[in-house]
Amino acid sequence: MKAVVISAPNHAALRDEPEPRAGEGQLLVKVGAAGICMSDVETLKGTRPPAYVKYPVIPGHEWCGTVERLGPGAAGFAVGDRVAVEGHNFCRQCAWCRRGETNLCVSYNELGFTLPGGFAQYVAVRADLAHAFAATLPFESAAMAEPLACVVHGAQRATIGPDSTVAVIGPGTLGLLAVGWAAVARPARIVVIGMDRANEALARRMGATDLLTVGDDPAARIREMTAGAGADVVFEAAGSDSALPLALDLARRGGTVVLYGIAGGGRRTQLEADLFCLKDLHIHGVFAYTTRSFDQALRLVESGRLDVAPLVTHTFALAEFQQAFDLLRERREPVVKVILKP
Ligand SMILES: [Zn+2]
Ligand SMILES: [Zn+2]
Repeated sequence: MKAVVISAPNHAALRDEPEPRAGEGQLLVKVGAAGICMSDVETLKGTRPPAYVKYPVIPGHEWCGTVERLGPGAAGFAVGDRVAVEGHNFCRQCAWCRRGETNLCVSYNELGFTLPGGFAQYVAVRADLAHAFAATLPFESAAMAEPLACVVHGAQRATIGPDSTVAVIGPGTLGLLAVGWAAVARPARIVVIGMDRANEALARRMGATDLLTVGDDPAARIREMTAGAGADVVFEAAGSDSALPLALDLARRGGTVVLYGIAGGGRRTQLEADLFCLKDLHIHGVFAYTTRSFDQALRLVESGRLDVAPLVTHTFALAEFQQAFDLLRERREPVVKVILKP
């Protein structure tokens, strides 16, 4: 089969690889669509922390496809079923897994990083990590269940009502999915904060009511909009050292801040020591997703309650992977989600 193989940092090629076999309790899935994440770009560049990648690797963790074959003991699926697959191959035995916190499993093992992923024609996966979806849902949309699962996992710790003001920092894939998620609850305002206005049209299409740039003094502007209070809920999806203090500043007293962004490189930031107490803030960090949030995300997309299709800005054939990666690295045109189709 054809597959994109990153043999070492900065060395990627389309190669002929042996077709994987569905082992005990596994499914062989024919890939329908696979999204490229910035973490795949990091894997190619070699900047992903060493504990979270094993070279050579076939990347791709935001993907879905069709069941081609069932391995021995794999139940609950039939050949031809369409499935989206959780990336985290959690152990099911450790204290975290037993509590249902499968995203925090002590043994990290993830498709596309330490196991072969979806930038290939076929992937063999654990059947218990596969989630079936209706054939009416396009592969490109179902592939978005994975990043949406992260959003859902964090966002359900926030309460959004009709009077809420929601602020979203960083209009990339996660930020725009958070906008879409928040819009389902029809809050009074969803204010997106970006470096520039490049993704404004998309943000509005996903449900944003306002777009501010970091140069607009967004904290002051949001206080103006809310009679001095600030945002009820802040989703931080920018992943930079300045995004965290901004998120805390945007939130009202008693507000909720959900942090998705990874600044990387062990970067540090200085904060007012008493800020959390004085504002009585609810802070939630988000690491990946659980089986439950993955399924919730897929159902949200499948039911049509959250239309993620506008976020797929580019589609390439698997053989054009280099162009697709370059597009994400160089960003010479507005780009959100780039999909590879084998
Ligand atoms: Zn990702
Ligand atoms: Zn575990």
